Amino acid sequence: MSAAGEPKPTIEVAEGSGVCFGVKRALRLAEKALEAGEAVYCLGPLIHNPQEVDRLAGRGFRVIESLEEAASGGTLLVRSHGLAPAVVAEAKALGLHIIDATCPLVRRVQTLATDLEGDGYQVIVAGDAAHPEVRAIQGHAPKAVVVSAPEALEGLALAGRVALVAQTTFSPEVFRRMAAELVMRVADEVRVVKTICAATVERQRATASLADRVDVMFVIGGRNSANTNRLAELCAACDVPTYHVEVADEVRPEMVAGRPRVGVAAGASTPQWIIDAVRERIRALQSGRGQGNL
Ligand code: SF4
Repeated sequence: MSAAGEPKPTIEVAEGSGVCFGVKRALRLAEKALEAGEAVYCLGPLIHNPQEVDRLAGRGFRVIESLEEAASGGTLLVRSHGLAPAVVAEAKALGLHIIDATCPLVRRVQTLATDLEGDGYQVIVAGDAAHPEVRAIQGHAPKAVVVSAPEALEGLALAGRVALVAQTTFSPEVFRRMAAELVMRVADEVRVVKTICAATVERQRATASLADRVDVMFVIGGRNSANTNRLAELCAACDVPTYHVEVADEVRPEMVAGRPRVGVAAGASTPQWIIDAVRERIRALQSGRGQGNL
């Protein structure tokens, strides 16, 4: 029961929170391959969520750092971030069967980058050079340059025809500024293809809107998940106390004390079972249960 004069405790989850269709598809393909009893490998974590990776590992799914770790005859699942063609070719040469779980939206960026480079454009990828999705895009367009901020365009010698594409989870606002900068600087032609994932944009919009009307925000997802970190940054920018948690146990009583309206958002790789557990933990604290660890 709420104290006199205090609003009733609520928990609201931002629209579009949790696993996106690209990650859902990759998980479905992974489960299917495991059911077939195959040895299934993945170069790097299938999704940026340690708890879900552990759950799959319990079923025999193996995350590897290099192809040499995979036994010939096994299956390599290409995660939603995609892989460079040279890596896929190497895997096939090593006798691995390929299941391609590249998200169709990521595949579109790869195809565009290849085609634009083939048509003579200098391709610029707005993104994080260290992110696996971006490395895979560069594998499809080896001359492409990766730029993470408009200021970084200043140091580039730009060709007569330039094409700009984006990592699917890139900030729309920074992308717009990059496009404007290129239009100012390139003499002949600038092609801008907005390849940012609509689900990501919508999740960010819904999260910021929720953060504006609650007393505290919990952003759930792997600390290695770029899109979850971005959601936490957006909430913090709304001047609301924000906690980035991976699991329910991290929600402490003091985080919700005196903050009746609770908002929850989750990144594109956060499974529903973790979101449910965090909600249950918050509900328990709001009702005076769960003062210690769950
Ligand atoms: S966030 Fe968007 S682009 Fe990335 S895997 Fe999910 S649906 Fe695909």
